[in-house]
Amino acid sequence: MPLRPIKKIAIIGAGIMGHGFALVFSQKGFPVSLHDVSEEILEKAMKSIDRTIGTFIRYGLIAKKDKERILKRITKTTDLRTAVDGADFVLEAIPEVLEMKQELFRRLEPLAPPHAILASNTSGLGITQIAKGLARPERAIIAHWINPPHIIPIVEIVRGDKTSDETAARVDRLLRKVGKIPIHVWKEVPGFLFNRLQLALYREALYCLETGVATAEDIDLVVKGAYGFRSAHLGPLETSDFGGLDTFLRISQNLYPKLCDSHEAPAILQSLVAQGKLGVKTGAGFYSYPPQVLRKKIQERDRRLIQQLKLFQNRSPVDRSRKR
Ligand code: NAD
Repeated sequence: MPLRPIKKIAIIGAGIMGHGFALVFSQKGFPVSLHDVSEEILEKAMKSIDRTIGTFIRYGLIAKKDKERILKRITKTTDLRTAVDGADFVLEAIPEVLEMKQELFRRLEPLAPPHAILASNTSGLGITQIAKGLARPERAIIAHWINPPHIIPIVEIVRGDKTSDETAARVDRLLRKVGKIPIHVWKEVPGFLFNRLQLALYREALYCLETGVATAEDIDLVVKGAYGFRSAHLGPLETSDFGGLDTFLRISQNLYPKLCDSHEAPAILQSLVAQGKLGVKTGAGFYSYPPQVLRKKIQERDRRLIQQLKLFQNRSPVDRSRKR
């Protein structure tokens, strides 16, 4: 049976991730409803979208003449019913709190059209839990994007116990249509793939900072100039193939017993959050971000990531092949 097409998108939550989603879909011609709890937040999101379009124009990802059309395709609303009216795909990006997401899905179920897919961008919660109690859990799914979602090409698709094949196939097709590469995670494990890998490195990075192994700047530089630099081309498994599995076995045997294996969130992270230092959104985290510096940093991040995206898109056929 042919898959039902997706024509209209609703994004719930217009924060760091949500505004990026609105841009991705409107850029590819989809009408988008962008919903959040206040006009002020929606205004801020539209300003960020406007700025990002400026960056995309500068680096040739969007033609200048298309800017107004892209912006016009996004309608902002604080009313959830209006947001999901006629939507075929609803993607939520509200805070990572299970009860909030469950409550939102319960409200969405009667408001969204019966055929609409209800997708969550959760970083690590399960969709089986989020969609618990829904009359039609087969249309609930995780589509986990990576920040900044308007640039990073991979999106993880994770099904719950009851997600239908049709829902997963429709999301797969939609993501490809907007230029993303869907990765199907076959087990609903916490953190899926991306965050399991990211958090393993993050725990060790914070452990090294807390125990005075190196400065924050140098820890970040080792990742940017060495580990991450190479990882943009070689994944960890390929890296070990290139380096020699016998060598990686010896390193593993020597080092694993000495790495951080704490089951607690790192103390330094807990302490910064308790002080209200949440990173760029409050102007300080591990580093400080006065407004002018922040704007430049975001532009610089996007500029460099766009260059990387172009390299990734131009990778040779030998690097594109994927085996199941
Ligand atoms: P954020 O705090 O920047 O934005 C969340 C937005 O949701 C806010 O604007 C808030 O006002 C809005 N909101 C809260 N309750 C709402 C409700 N009931 N209805 C509508 N809007 C509501 O958060 P974010 O960083 O964009 O993260 C959103 C989700 O995406 C989380 O689940 C997070 O784990 C996931 N995620 C985040 C990142 C990241 O790097 N920030 C990456 C991947 C996934």
